[in-house]
Amino acid sequence: MEKRVEEVVLHDSATPSMPGLEMGGGILLARLDDLVNWARRNSLFPLTFGLACCAIEMMSAAASRFDIARFGSEVFRASPRQADVMIVAGRVSKKMAPVLRQIYDQMPSPKWVISMGACASCGGIFNNYAIVQGVDQIVPVDVYVPGCPPSPDALLYALIKLQQKIRAQRLGMLLELKPRTEPPAIEDGAKAIPSGQ
Ligand code: SF4
Repeated sequence: MEKRVEEVVLHDSATPSMPGLEMGGGILLARLDDLVNWARRNSLFPLTFGLACCAIEMMSAAASRFDIARFGSEVFRASPRQADVMIVAGRVSKKMAPVLRQIYDQMPSPKWVISMGACASCGGIFNNYAIVQGVDQIVPVDVYVPGCPPSPDALLYALIKLQQKIRAQRLGMLLELKPRTEPPAIEDGAKAIPSGQ
């Protein structure tokens, strides 16, 4: 019996040309959500924002032993306009609260926040008039890192958790959450920073 050979037409005048396909090139099909989230979660640029002792652990995470570069986040930015994840490392004083909120507002969307350590998450041992009892009163927090101080690998674990969260996001869901309450009132004598400066 004669063997039937079928010719597969890869290109005709009705379909757009795909250079390289006839030569064995490949096509990648993926959802836009997945591609965008893949790029976002593997290039999270942290904002340099150390406030207290937790910041030393954050710096250690960038050093060679823990090497945050393995997760694409070695580029700590000095400008909020070039960063997309704020790591709040340390206690937030009420005088610093409006500054922190202003810097957060200057970060381009989408943006995320990691609250590093007990002080940033809930005030820690500083339950007094000067310290904000949780940075989530000022900005929306995505991941909390427990500990006093958390170890650098705990911060890396939080980064992995944030990456998992970004992976599950859909582009239509990137709405910014509003903070639970207004930033705390500025103490007498502290100068308010007008927004937009
Ligand atoms: S959680 Fe502990 S290590 Fe971190 S800022 Fe507070 S006191 Fe310092």
